[in-house]
Amino acid sequence: MAKQYVFYFGDGKADGRADMKNLLGGKGANLAEMTNLGIPVPAGFTISTEVCTHYYENNLNYPEGLTDQVNNALAKVEESMDAKFGDKENPLLVSVRSGARVSMPGMMDTVLNLGLNDETVKGLVKKTGDERFAYDSYRRFVAMYGDVVLGLRPETEDDVDPFEEVLEAKKRDRGVQLDTELTADDLKELVAEYKEALRKHSGESFPEDPRDQLWGAIGAVFGSWNNERAKVYRQLNKIPESWGTAVNVQSMVFGNMGEDSGTGVAFTRDPATGDKSIYGEYLLNAQGEDVVAGVRTPQKIDQLEKSMPDVYKQFQEICEKLEKRYRDMQDMEFTIQQGKLWMLQTRTGKRTGFAAFRIAVDLVEEGIISKEEALMRVEPNQLNQLLRPIFDPAQKRKAVQGGRLLTKGLNAGPGAATGKVVFNAPDAVEWTKRDEKVILVRIETSPEDIKGMDAADGILTARGGMTSHAALVARQMGKVCVAGAGELQIDYRKRQFEVNGHVVKEGDWISLDGITGEVLEGEIDPHPSEVLQVLIDKTMSPEESKAYHTYDRILAWADEFRRLRVRTNADQPDQASKALTFGAQGIGLCRTEHMFFGGNRIQAVREMIVADTKQGREKALAKLLPMQREDFIGLFRVMDGYPVTIRTLDPPLHEFLPHEEEALKQLAESIGVSFEKLKNRLSALQEFNPMLGHRGCRLGVVFPEITAMQVQAILEAACTVKKEGIDVQPEIMIPLVSHVNELRAQEKVVREVAKDVFKKYDVEVEYLVGTMIEIPRAAITADEVAQVAEFFSFGTNDLTQTTFGMSRDDSGMFLPFYVENKILQGDPFQSVDQQGVGKLMEWGTEQGRKTRSDLKVGICGEHGGDPDSVEFCHQINLDYVSCSPFRVPIARLAAAQGALREKQTN
Ligand code: ADP
Ligand code: MG
Ligand code: MG
Repeated sequence: MAKQYVFYFGDGKADGRADMKNLLGGKGANLAEMTNLGIPVPAGFTISTEVCTHYYENNLNYPEGLTDQVNNALAKVEESMDAKFGDKENPLLVSVRSGARVSMPGMMDTVLNLGLNDETVKGLVKKTGDERFAYDSYRRFVAMYGDVVLGLRPETEDDVDPFEEVLEAKKRDRGVQLDTELTADDLKELVAEYKEALRKHSGESFPEDPRDQLWGAIGAVFGSWNNERAKVYRQLNKIPESWGTAVNVQSMVFGNMGEDSGTGVAFTRDPATGDKSIYGEYLLNAQGEDVVAGVRTPQKIDQLEKSMPDVYKQFQEICEKLEKRYRDMQDMEFTIQQGKLWMLQTRTGKRTGFAAFRIAVDLVEEGIISKEEALMRVEPNQLNQLLRPIFDPAQKRKAVQGGRLLTKGLNAGPGAATGKVVFNAPDAVEWTKRDEKVILVRIETSPEDIKGMDAADGILTARGGMTSHAALVARQMGKVCVAGAGELQIDYRKRQFEVNGHVVKEGDWISLDGITGEVLEGEIDPHPSEVLQVLIDKTMSPEESKAYHTYDRILAWADEFRRLRVRTNADQPDQASKALTFGAQGIGLCRTEHMFFGGNRIQAVREMIVADTKQGREKALAKLLPMQREDFIGLFRVMDGYPVTIRTLDPPLHEFLPHEEEALKQLAESIGVSFEKLKNRLSALQEFNPMLGHRGCRLGVVFPEITAMQVQAILEAACTVKKEGIDVQPEIMIPLVSHVNELRAQEKVVREVAKDVFKKYDVEVEYLVGTMIEIPRAAITADEVAQVAEFFSFGTNDLTQTTFGMSRDDSGMFLPFYVENKILQGDPFQSVDQQGVGKLMEWGTEQGRKTRSDLKVGICGEHGGDPDSVEFCHQINLDYVSCSPFRVPIARLAAAQGALREKQTN
């Protein structure tokens, strides 16, 4: 028997099935499946993708036997519909629709009403008794065929559509406004004029023979597989050439046969909220794409329940059937012809992240899918849509349409914020004291801005990337942040910024969408996240919120399957307790330098830096000690029962000194040294490349008294809270080690201080000493480093910088180019470079555990909250990841996906 190229569907039986997408395309496979399910689908047939492949492999020739198979299938359709293709009395009309495995813009548009000519149109008049309808269908067909098959369409954006031109002339001539006001005779004339326009413009005459029309349209679908638009789309989306497209030929049903007919599109659930109710729109007396094209305002699907209750009920049953079969929310097209419902398409529907979570959880609770499936269907990053405030979509759309979109930057801190513009941190603090909502706008931020950033509702910077100071701190604080909006021209002195011709002054309202990176003029209300209202603000009870229920279920299921533990990066008790509510199992990184800016600590820090003797430094450090101890006591109390990793001082010292003349003078005065001396000290601290300079453990090695003070503060705090009955588990982490001897020197300081503290407090606390692995040498010699280190934590921000030999802050000049031109697959500061940096992590973990089998290994770089990186950490067997508080749930989910994917492949 010859190979089957043509697959019939109709009368409750189809040759194809849903799982034959590769052969029949998505549309064809689902039309077949719906038919098999007993759902009313107009009969038709699908010409397989293999024909397309054959066509291109054989000089644009069809395989042998195709014509016969098409004729046979067409005969079955005729029988089913009780009409004949090309018949003058009782003509069958069809649509020709393209359909690849995945839906693809750039493919040929659908041709409707095919089979009409000057003779068959008379049959259609007779059959329907509606001359106007028949000629309206005919003139639409000629225009559609002329456009999509014969290629008569406007060539440039300035050209008018040739058919539109003829139509407009006719309406002018008749003195009418709307198409619907034209009479049957007008439309009859239009058909002739359309055909004439075709002849004139393209030299081709319109094919009167329906079989020629059919083969013309089939050829055009296959031809469109290789048009420029489709090729570009395939390239961008990595769709292989060899897939090919299928062609669907399907008998027409008409939604334009009066007020008991119509056409529409609908989803089985609300694609924006996930709500379990049919969501859609339809138009009465309309055909094909009229709903999407927006020619008239469509009606909500609920209206159908009132106007055609029987049809609506049948539609509801179909929705249920489809969801059961496809086990997911469906996006459907339907047509009602004189009170009878026909389904024309179904596919799994696109949805917002918010809806994706809701639907996944509901489907589990309805017994349709398993927990594992639900977890694999959602995207961890989209959890943000449940956690963060978001703008009301309608309000935002209105703002954008009203020209209020100022510019776009990087979506560095997700969420939505609105407030008045201020240009410096002290103002942010002052204004918020007066109960104003503010957005802090800076060229870039530095550690000095921390308090202002904390006070502001949102942060906007003109410079810096996804891992710039602003972005990093904003994420840790859970602030909305748009970073690196390069079009902003900020003038601190005039207290205004200019962007694309708009001037925004201090006190003006702006709105930031941290999920998209958009900056908008004016005020837009953010909707608060229900999950946070339940978890953090406690202004809503768990039972009240469907969103919270969704969040709670997904994460409970994630915890069932994940192996990787999730900690958080936090320096303050409030951040830490937020992270605990999000499910953090410890602190993976506490940056002590952030504490140096709190209260009036900075003064003591500066005294310490300026001092030129050990005694001088120790005197200043002694002032810091009680303050740091208080910080740690606060943190330990919150983290009762969980490990807390504290990193000793890391940044180069000059970062703590003011750089402006005026501030320097003040400082000199307040600590009682001469201005000259202070200036000299500052210039002595100047480094060409501070990122690779005197920082990390190199500070502690040269100035062991700094490490000693910090360790004393940590362990005194630990002893204090232990006496309160708190289970305290400090882990002291030495940064930027490259040689084991550096760690050895620091460890000695730690152990000696510990002995003294325990004696003084008359209590002992179990603690660990470990290191960050953020220099390739440390990873390479991990077996040696583990002789001293009791734990490793990969500092992947620095490890990426040092492995690539590129500075993150300067990478803006070339990294975007690299990513765009595929020199690199992605930004290595966002997602771990698995082939390079990842290899060091893998090697370091293995070698370290060779020396010390119970070595705890984690990651504390920004990557700890990136789903792909989290999954990678699972694969290389780390014990935990650590990320900013708001990313804790995201990491929990990603860790579960990693574990589940591993189970699937084994
Ligand atoms: P697309 O892939 O762009 O959605 P379709 O082939 O689904 O293209 O069709 C475009 C429009 O024409 C849709 O509204 C569809 O429902 C309608 N349509 C397609 N075939 C028929 C038919 N046989 N009878 C009635 N309407 C049809
Ligand atoms: Mg469609
Ligand atoms: Mg580092």
